[in-house]
Amino acid sequence: MTSEPIVYSEMTSPRPEYAKLEQEYQTLLDRFEAAEVSSDHKAAIAAIDAWDKLRRQISTFGSLARLKFNQDTSNSEYEEAREYVDELMPKVTEFDVKMMRALLDSSLRSRLEDELGEHAFRLWSSEVTTYEPEIQDDLAVENKLRAEYTKLCASAEIEFRGETYNLSGIRKFMDVADRDTRHEAQKARWQWFEAHGDEFDRLYDELTQLRHGMATKLGYEDFVDLGYRRMSRIDYDRADVETFRAEVQQHVVPLVADIREAQRERLGLDELMVWDEDVHDLEGNPTPIGDVEELTAKAREMFSRLHPELGEFFAMMDDRQLLDLDTRKAKSGGGFCTWFADYQVPYIFANFNGSKHDAEVFTHEMGHAFQCYVSGDKRLLDYVWPTYESCEIHSMSLEFLTWPHIDLLFGDDAERFKKIHLIESFAFIPYGTAVDHFQHLVYENPEATAEERHAMWKQMEETYLPWRNWGDIDYGAKGARWHLQSHIFGMPFYYIDYVLALTCALQFWERMQQDFDRALDDYVELCKLGGEAAFQTLARSAGLTSPFERGSLETAVERARTSLGL
Ligand code: ZN
Repeated sequence: MTSEPIVYSEMTSPRPEYAKLEQEYQTLLDRFEAAEVSSDHKAAIAAIDAWDKLRRQISTFGSLARLKFNQDTSNSEYEEAREYVDELMPKVTEFDVKMMRALLDSSLRSRLEDELGEHAFRLWSSEVTTYEPEIQDDLAVENKLRAEYTKLCASAEIEFRGETYNLSGIRKFMDVADRDTRHEAQKARWQWFEAHGDEFDRLYDELTQLRHGMATKLGYEDFVDLGYRRMSRIDYDRADVETFRAEVQQHVVPLVADIREAQRERLGLDELMVWDEDVHDLEGNPTPIGDVEELTAKAREMFSRLHPELGEFFAMMDDRQLLDLDTRKAKSGGGFCTWFADYQVPYIFANFNGSKHDAEVFTHEMGHAFQCYVSGDKRLLDYVWPTYESCEIHSMSLEFLTWPHIDLLFGDDAERFKKIHLIESFAFIPYGTAVDHFQHLVYENPEATAEERHAMWKQMEETYLPWRNWGDIDYGAKGARWHLQSHIFGMPFYYIDYVLALTCALQFWERMQQDFDRALDDYVELCKLGGEAAFQTLARSAGLTSPFERGSLETAVERARTSLGL
């Protein structure tokens, strides 16, 4: 007799109590050390397996608590649980780091590496340098400040033409055909930011000081190196990112300048303003056909046509209530994919608003979800997800690979959608690079004032987005666009990841034009590798050129010029 698969509403995870956890970790450490003393490598492996199981339990509890809070930020019980997770996680990090140090220093290390793979040891070597008990309280404060940012954004009530919208809701007016509507909607949004500007600046200043302080305590010169290590970047550094930035400035900025000029002409405008940037032709952007329910049914069909494994997977997500797609009051903004280790299933959180963004959330987050589903049973938790820039290859490549069936979501507008998707992909590269470069400036100059930070952002816009014209939106013109970019607050240096991944995804785009089936198979195989290797190794295993090699963007830029008639 087979039991019914567990659906989301039935998923639970016991709250790990601190005192009990401390004891469990100590027992594991003792077990490992005893195994080491007797050179019993099998017993050592058993202790590591037990540790891995415990980490998965804690991860499940954390994911569920954080998700529930995001689903209803006004529920005080969820808020309390989320606060508990935020306070607990730094302590768990301390326990984990202790265990990692024991493994790294172990006399059995080479035998353990043979069995578990060297990669985990490299990750742990990096991770142990990001933590000392003296920063534990700082990490808890950092989590609190992050949550404050989320709450501040979720509290937005933007009055627009007699209705009230949150930040996700107002977005649907940003890419409509009617120019006055998008102009007014942008104005309304930025007025809200202006009214709360001091709060955003204060929050970011506190985060910057806090992060710089942690870096100093750990012996780093500034937060940049620590930030890279916190992102587990073990196969590239700031110099590589500088090389990549130069490539973007040299090849992509001129392409996007031409794209913007062609856009201005197509729209019949004298000047392309910031509120025009999201609209690509006079018809306005294509919108997907149907409400959340219809779109989910169509996406189900799309994935089943695309690939049997993807089809089966999406049906499972739908059947087991693992999709939360509609926008509700008090639900936090944005979209993400999370994962419940103990159930070995992912969950997709999004805010549908009727714009084409809805379809992108489907195809993008589905990439993440599929990847962790097919690698959820890896030997170690560390191998389930790769580092973020690799994760984003899974999501961004799927955005392109769904093209052949995207007419299910867009009907007759499918061709226009694809063209716009390509344009926006290239347009994203300079923006994403600017977001990353900005953070380097911020953390290299932690004493800067709010005004100076705004000036840094303006400098970024001049370098990477020279076409940007804010017109009468003073707050944007002042250099405050970054207040809207949650990663800058919550996940420092998690942004170039999208750009690096996109550089890889565009290679899938090139490949699928030559041989679609091969591109899709290569993609599925890459997903199945999960986090078993570092970024550049994973990329090369799929036959991709690393973004840090000169010329990584050149051929895609040329192909885009041909494809877009520029
Ligand atoms: Zn993503």
